[in-house]
Amino acid sequence: YEMSENISSSVRELEEEKRKLIEAIARLEELERQQKQFIGNISHELKTPLTAILAYSDLLGMYGDDPKLLDKASVEIRQEAQRLYGLVEKALKLSSMDVYDFQTAARSVPIAPAIREAIDRIRIKADARNVRIEAKLEEADVWADPDNLMHMLLNLLDNAVKYNKEGGTVRIANFRARSADSAEVMRIEVADTGIGIPGEARERIFDPFYTVSDDRSRETGGTGLGLSLVRSLAEKQNGTVRLAESGPGGSLFVLELPVAPESDTIAD
Ligand code: ADP
Repeated sequence: YEMSENISSSVRELEEEKRKLIEAIARLEELERQQKQFIGNISHELKTPLTAILAYSDLLGMYGDDPKLLDKASVEIRQEAQRLYGLVEKALKLSSMDVYDFQTAARSVPIAPAIREAIDRIRIKADARNVRIEAKLEEADVWADPDNLMHMLLNLLDNAVKYNKEGGTVRIANFRARSADSAEVMRIEVADTGIGIPGEARERIFDPFYTVSDDRSRETGGTGLGLSLVRSLAEKQNGTVRLAESGPGGSLFVLELPVAPESDTIAD
């Protein structure tokens, strides 16, 4: 009786091992599928601007002495090249995330100066669209990689300007708060008076390559990698990012990051 008990428990253990192996294989297959899809998407995204650049350089070869074409071509080529640059930069960042050690790169970073710098870097773009940027900043330190922090801030601000209406406003604020699991965090809010995001797209905007409508992204040069990068970067640093509100009056994105350990704590 005891022997058959032993055998059946060994059989159970084997079955369990087998189940785990099958699960691991399924996970690997899913990863491989995602990787192939990522490469497919990237190649597609690279092709579009390259096709435009090639077409314009062909035209220039034929009609290079036409001043109108020269003007148009230089603007278009520059714009498409910039798009390529942004795409490659984000793709590189996304693909290096798994090998890069985020914890050791994280340190105490003063958040208010970082936000001010991000605003300065986005200012020309905002001015060009007549978008005002208002900031309400609190001096404090967050625990993050300064480079990645800048990436996250620039991406959120860039979207808030890009998808705003002409003459709109962007409001950025930071303050200490409690996260959903009641840890003390630094909350960074980026609000815009833009076109908003339709309900069915609100979670998907964080997926790689997802853009709400091809038209508005094409027009603004989007590739759909920005928010997926912000989310991956935030999570690698024990933070979160979400779309808290969105409607016809605009959107509110909330980024939460750990407060640096030596900072004072808020009173409850
Ligand atoms: P993209 O490079 O296309 O801007 P993102 O990943 O940054 O890619 O954003 C994904 C999509 O989410 C965008 O195509 C855009 O339609 C939408 N989106 C992002 N931010 C905003 C915003 N502040 N207001 C309205 N729509 C936005």
